[in-house]
This record gives sequence, C-alpha cells and structure tokens, in this order.
Amino acid sequence: MNANNLDNLKRRFLMKGILVFVVGITLIVMGCSDRKDGSDQPSSDGRLRIVATTGMIADAARNIVGEHAEVVGLMGAGVDPHLYKATQNDLKLLSEADIILYNGLHLEGKMADVLGKLAARKLVIALAEGLDTTLLRRPPEFEGAYDPHVWFDVDLWKRVAQNLTDTLTALDAENVEVYRSNGGIYTASLDALDEWVIQQISTTPEKSRVLVTAHDAFGYFGGAYGIEVRGLQGISTVSEAGLADRAAMIDLIVERKVKAVFIESSINPKAIEAIVEGVNGRGHSVSIGGELFSDAMGEDGTPEGTYVGMVRANVNTIVEALR
Ligand SMILES: [Zn+2]
Repeated sequence: MNANNLDNLKRRFLMKGILVFVVGITLIVMGCSDRKDGSDQPSSDGRLRIVATTGMIADAARNIVGEHAEVVGLMGAGVDPHLYKATQNDLKLLSEADIILYNGLHLEGKMADVLGKLAARKLVIALAEGLDTTLLRRPPEFEGAYDPHVWFDVDLWKRVAQNLTDTLTALDAENVEVYRSNGGIYTASLDALDEWVIQQISTTPEKSRVLVTAHDAFGYFGGAYGIEVRGLQGISTVSEAGLADRAAMIDLIVERKVKAVFIESSINPKAIEAIVEGVNGRGHSVSIGGELFSDAMGEDGTPEGTYVGMVRANVNTIVEALR
C-alpha cells in the first residue's frame, strides 16, 4: 500500500461526500426528486467502491461493509485465479474502483501487470501479503515462494478479515462503527466455523486423513486440521502434472489404501479421473469422493457461494468420503 494513494483516497472520499451533500441540497431546493444521471457509475451514490478479485475476498469485504459500500467480485464460481486474465469489463471496474483487493502471493499470476499498473494511481491491497510471514507456508517445491491459498485455514482467514476491517475503518470515517461491528460478527462466525471444522475432522479415523486433490490448494487446510495433503499438480495450476507425478500419486494411493480422491470445482477433473483409473488397475479401489471448492466458491445465491458455506461443504464432502 502506498501512503500517497491512501491520502489521496481519503481526500477524494471526503470531497465526494461534500459533493453528494451539495448536489442533494440543490435537488431539494429545486424541488427535483428525479435522478437523471443515467450513468453506470455506482460511486455516484457516494459509497466507497471496492473491487475484489476472488469470491472469498469479495465475501469478506461484503460481510464487513454490508450496504455501506459497494463490493464487486471479478471471479465467479468455477474460475481458476491462477489462469484468470482481466476482461475488458474487469478493466473498467478496476479503473473505477476506490479500492482494489486481491489475494497476492502470486495467486492472480496473470493479473500481476494490470494490478501493478493500477497500484501506481490507486489503493491496491494484497490481503494475503499483509499476514505475518511466519504464518505462511513456503513449500520447497514452490522454489522459495509462499503458498497463496491462505483461506483454507479459517483462523488465518480471520486474520485477513481483521486486517481488512482495520483498513476499511481507516478509509471510511463515516462508517467506522458499522464496519467494526460487522467485522466482529464476521470474525466470530469464523471462530465458530474453525471449531466446527476441527470437530468434524476428529470424527474421521486418523489413518484415513489423507487428502488427494487435483492441485496443491489444501496445504493450509492440512496444516491447520491435521490432514496429510497431496496435490497432483503443484501450488499453481499453470504447469501440468507429468507422468512421473501421476505414477508417484498412484503408488501413494495404493500403498496408503486411500479410499477417496477429490476433484476441484475450478479445475478440469480429467487428471484426477486418470489417477482413479490407474489405481483401480492396480487392484486397489479408490473413488472420487466429490468435488471440492478450492480456489473459487460456489454459485451466487447458493450456500456454497459464501466463504462459510464453501468451507462447510468441503468439510462435509471430505469427512463423508474418508470416514
Ligand atoms: Zn490454487
């Protein structure tokens, strides 16, 4: 975050408030109740305009601001953030935003240039990069970089939400109380969720706690909840798994007698289906335990279309298949 950008935004936002006030008074004086701006610029209502890359980030922001700011998420259900490129419409939304929130740690790898350019003139915040680095995973296979999938440790996501609450209250003085109160309610729900996940995982036999997925998104989940995690592809989906990776994965599943493997909503299931075929050809039976939401939430308007619902759905799927 750039201190100049922060000051500019605070100043601009204060100006916008004054402008809305003056325009409002003028309309009342003129006896005109009709709003004829006809523009698609949502900031004309004076609310802070937030654009978030992933659904998980948009969900956190919405929970904190409620109706007091506008939140737009760019990546919908089933979208893989590692491969996602900004569309023309995204570029428009990003250029009109007061604040841009993204995960960072190279999750949105193909948006790095766009976000970098925008950061020169507005507030662009990488939420996962605001976490204490001692809390982050740095898997050896990722060549010194941090694992970006922080939302899979609910307690870590709570810290992200707390940081976001602090940032938003610093920016929008008018809504400090609301943001603090909403932020508190949201983080309390995450505490309850964290407890629930721990309790649910404890119902599976210890030897069954191996989670085989299409890509290495679940490292934080494994670390937080005591499950060994194996992804066929690496931390990013940019490079495909090779033959050697597949053979090693099949060996592991046969040796450990793993009962189920999982496909991911944002990733083509073919590679995992090939693993199942390979394992079954070796005389051990493994099934597809279901679809997990890894880097994208479910459809809007469904329980899985929220962060809490997504985590619950994943845990239910995992527990059911491994029990
Ligand atoms: Zn991923």
